[in-house]
Amino acid sequence: MLLLGGTGEARELAAALVADGVDVVSSLAGRLADPRLPDGDVRVGGFGGVEGLAAWLREHRPGAVVDATHPFAAGMTANAARACTATGTRLLRLQRPGWTAGPGDDWRWADSLADAAGMVHGTVFLTTGRQGVGAFAGLPGRVLVRCVDPPTDPLPAGAVLLLARGPFTVDDELALMREHAVDVVVTKDSGGHMTAAKLVAARELGIPVVLVRRPPIPDGVLVVASVQEALACL
Ligand code: NAP
Repeated sequence: MLLLGGTGEARELAAALVADGVDVVSSLAGRLADPRLPDGDVRVGGFGGVEGLAAWLREHRPGAVVDATHPFAAGMTANAARACTATGTRLLRLQRPGWTAGPGDDWRWADSLADAAGMVHGTVFLTTGRQGVGAFAGLPGRVLVRCVDPPTDPLPAGAVLLLARGPFTVDDELALMREHAVDVVVTKDSGGHMTAAKLVAARELGIPVVLVRRPPIPDGVLVVASVQEALACL
């Protein structure tokens, strides 16, 4: 099984498959300096586009590919769909559901990071990850930029860089947002519980949240929403 990873679900699925005696190779992009490694074999780095992945699939002939990459890893998801079609390899997409607003939430939807950058002012809490931070470089106010590793994109003039890896508790998020007098939170619609505490904290403090919409999943790809469903399907 080739498991395209970089998410908590991918690590959970790898652990369950390895425990079941399945040969699993997890693939990581290699973006983080110190990634959390899944159980089983691990390879790190890009395949070299659709052709590179197709060549890997022809050489290793896995029984299936599980694309458990992040909902915003659209390039890898598109490549997986095309390479699996080209090589006749079975493909399953594991993607957690997006978040849903509840009573008291003040959520505003953006189509892209650039769109989100045009919707915010005051002190901005940016939690969209290190990639694409450049879209916010022109913001004039204070911008609290939280990510695991330092971004390579240019940062806004008033940036405060916070290097931290979740999960975070609601109390952590409340304390942080109060300390920095945050006016608005920006996030991707990543879904899941690992990074949802900021949404609860924003609701409690009456702070608006700008959410970037997910990219679409390629047509014809079989999709499951949880590790349990993926295991049943596999
Ligand atoms: P992306 O834009 O969709 O992918 C760009 C290229 O990175 C791919 O074409 C591929 O290179 C390589 N790549 C991506 N994921 C890979 C994987 N699991 N194994 C091997 N190569 C991979 O991806 P991204 O948004 O940069 O995300 C990179 C990784 O970070 C993914 O594993 C994803 O699950 C994780 N992640 C992403 C986000 C996010 O917000 N985007 C958040 C949390 C975690 P080649 O074309 O050379 O094969």
